[in-house]
Amino acid sequence: MTAHDQQNAHMDQFQDRSMEICRMTEEALEQGCLVLHYQPIVEAQGGPVGVEALLRMHHPERGLLPPAAFASALDSPRLARRIGQFVLATALRQNQSWHQQDIPLRVSINISPHHLLDPAFFSDLQTALAAHPDLPADAVEIEVTETAPLQDFRKAQEVLLACHQLGVRVALDDFGTGSASLTYLQKLPAHTIKIDQSFVRDILHDPKDYAIVSGVVTSARLLGLDVIAEGVETLEHAALLHQLQCQCFQGYAIARPMPAEQIPDWVSRYNPLFAQDDSTNPNQ
Ligand code: C2E
Ligand code: MG
Ligand code: MG
Repeated sequence: MTAHDQQNAHMDQFQDRSMEICRMTEEALEQGCLVLHYQPIVEAQGGPVGVEALLRMHHPERGLLPPAAFASALDSPRLARRIGQFVLATALRQNQSWHQQDIPLRVSINISPHHLLDPAFFSDLQTALAAHPDLPADAVEIEVTETAPLQDFRKAQEVLLACHQLGVRVALDDFGTGSASLTYLQKLPAHTIKIDQSFVRDILHDPKDYAIVSGVVTSARLLGLDVIAEGVETLEHAALLHQLQCQCFQGYAIARPMPAEQIPDWVSRYNPLFAQDDSTNPNQ
């Protein structure tokens, strides 16, 4: 077999695998086997401010699968919009129910690049909001990575601006991992930056990551944006981030993603990580 044949064989294998994942995900969507788990986002000195909706798949043989197991389907032309509509409807219904129980959280929803750039995205968002009239628009935050703006900056900018005008919040997810992040900060209508966990993970030991996180937090503050540190795995990470004046934390040190029904109990038991006047010692 020549190198060229080998390459073709790899491509075929890759395509077969992607099609198989799409089929499996479509079946899961149709059979009600896609579910959302929710991971709390907390303020350093306060309570939970929101939750991020994270997809899971109940697989008949393999159990509960994370999105990494079906990632290619999430942004596929065939399924991106249908999955997005499902996630919007489910997350907003759930958040309206929490609001009605006096648990005023914000729900953050990951939007695939393909769905964001779909001409129907904005009306999908409006439809989901209209179906939940008791939910304020700013209790919804859409999370976008830089993939969509990289594909079509104008279109992404336009649709994000429209979402912004609707009152829906916009977060830049996985911030710092791409090459154009600073331009995006300047030109996209964002409320929140989510610092990628790859920087947060090593801040205790890597002076470069510490410097990057510190710089992002400061820039965000000067630009009037909220900052959420993702992947906060230990209280030591939280303490250092708090010293850097990072406002909000999300990560295993606070809570793992959990089914919706566990959220009310978790919220009622949660104690702030830090006292009002103490920026260094976690009090848990
Ligand atoms: P993301 O949006 O950056 O979500 C954060 C991921 O980090 C989640 O992984 C979460 O479980 C994980 N995580 C949270 N805290 C920690 C921590 O302390 N340490 C570590 N190591 N990981 C932590 P998950 O749930 O596996 O989701 C992975 C990615 O899949 C998400 O990354 C997002 O890009 C995508 N995704 C999830 N749900 C959806 C969805 O509804 N729609 C779309 N389009 N994509 C989704
Ligand atoms: Mg996210
Ligand atoms: Mg992220």
